[in-house]
Amino acid sequence: MAITINSNRCPENHPCPSVRVCPVNALSQKGYKAPTVNAETCLECDKCVNYCPMGALQNLK
Ligand code: SF4
Repeated sequence: MAITINSNRCPENHPCPSVRVCPVNALSQKGYKAPTVNAETCLECDKCVNYCPMGALQNLK
């Protein structure tokens, strides 16, 4: 299980700030869309989860 993105919580109108806090570059964003997670590289460190003010990234472990 990796990080789950809840696009209903993402306003999709800005560069995702959580992309920059990921230590392994596992998050990517196309335009202003909600980001996607590369489950192969994600460490489940939860930095992005704690950083997103909208709570759009969740760790359902
Ligand atoms: S949990 Fe950590 S490693 Fe995984 S996408 Fe978020 S910041 Fe990156």
